[in-house]
Amino acid sequence: MRVYGATLDEETRCVHFSGDHDIVAILVPCCSRYYPCFRCHDEDADHRLERWPRSTWGEPAILCGACSATLTIATYLEVNRCPDCAAGFSPDLAMHAPHYFDAERTAVLATERPAMFATEREIERAAA
Ligand SMILES: [Zn+2]
Ligand SMILES: [Zn+2]
Ligand SMILES: [Zn+2]
Repeated sequence: MRVYGATLDEETRCVHFSGDHDIVAILVPCCSRYYPCFRCHDEDADHRLERWPRSTWGEPAILCGACSATLTIATYLEVNRCPDCAAGFSPDLAMHAPHYFDAERTAVLATERPAMFATEREIERAAA
């Protein structure tokens, strides 16, 4: 499975997110490519990142960098480790869910995990 963007290793860590648990690549619907993160996409592509609408969350759009298993979006949003190889996923990746998945779920996540979204807003403010 080819992963695009500024990857650092075979487990899909990238120059933006390279922690022990940053091992997920996401298939983005706008260009049908796997990227380790939204920043990798934005630096590589000439268009805005599209998000997966709720009706498509059964798609196996999530790649585990540790074992190359694919997960559906719905599964990914419910787990904190790979169901196939048990490698732990970074909580930071869940924090970035609003970049990849539609607003309905984003609202749910913001309710369930307000601390994550406060952090995300701080990141965006710092990057602006
Ligand atoms: Zn794209
Ligand atoms: Zn990246
Ligand atoms: Zn895995």
